[in-house]
Amino acid sequence: MRLLATEMARLPIGRFAPSPTGELHLGSLTTALASYCHIKSLGGQWRLRIEDTDTLRCSPLSSNQILKDLTALGLHWDGPLLYQSERTSIYNDYLSQLTALSYGCDCSRAALKDYAERHPLSTAVYPRLCLKRQLNRHQHKLRLQLPNYQIGFLDGIQGPQWQNPQTLQGDMVVRRADGIINYILAVSIDDALQGITHVMRGLDIMPMTCAQIAIMQMLGLSAVNHWYHLPLVLNPFGQKLSKQNLATPIDTSHPSDLLAQALRLLNQPSVDLDTPERMLAQAIEQWTLEPLLGQQQLI
Ligand code: GLU
Repeated sequence: MRLLATEMARLPIGRFAPSPTGELHLGSLTTALASYCHIKSLGGQWRLRIEDTDTLRCSPLSSNQILKDLTALGLHWDGPLLYQSERTSIYNDYLSQLTALSYGCDCSRAALKDYAERHPLSTAVYPRLCLKRQLNRHQHKLRLQLPNYQIGFLDGIQGPQWQNPQTLQGDMVVRRADGIINYILAVSIDDALQGITHVMRGLDIMPMTCAQIAIMQMLGLSAVNHWYHLPLVLNPFGQKLSKQNLATPIDTSHPSDLLAQALRLLNQPSVDLDTPERMLAQAIEQWTLEPLLGQQQLI
């Protein structure tokens, strides 16, 4: 069947966008699995994007392991695989549209800490010390003036959200002095260029969503229209599982058991133990957001 352009535009497209600073753990696996099942239950496509702009923290070894693990689990992505590390010139092109709203900044962490101690009443995330200094944009980090008004979005799991990007994020660093592009700029551009309609990711990223929406608006990029921030898997100390707190990497030598475990964590109806592909087909069929609604953690 041939689709008209307007019908194609409505095709639901979701994505999984891991940063390869380490291997997948149970937390990132639940994000991958939930975003996959959800978009497939809507008859859509699931894209994969490797968010490796931070070349100092990311490694090709981790990227390759993530691809192997997803494949072993039957989580096959649609369309081309994107590596953000290959897209720096695209991000810089978009940044050049934001010249009027961005500025160079050489404030060190220590200088900002010192400022905060001397101005205890200041509530600004970044007190705009460099706003008027006209520092070279390429020799220093680049900050973007985020708007100072409320932006609302309806989160399909957490409910309606209102956030002020300036209050939450201040003038965000969008490019570091070493040229590395900040996550939120890259994600805003790529979600639009990949035609993503449904973003499903961890709740820890929700405070940045209004900044993402603001950046997409500033760049005239079509916005994602469905947002979902998933409850987090916590370790026994109540911390989000992450590479920083040494979350155990997943072991895909028994992929079906692992899928069953992750589906249980997501409080989904149980699936019959079978090949990963058949288990996923059943999980998609049964997929429901109901047990996740309003939840902040998965236990
Ligand atoms: N790359 C981010 C991470 O691995 C996720 C970004 C997103 O889903 O928007 O935490």
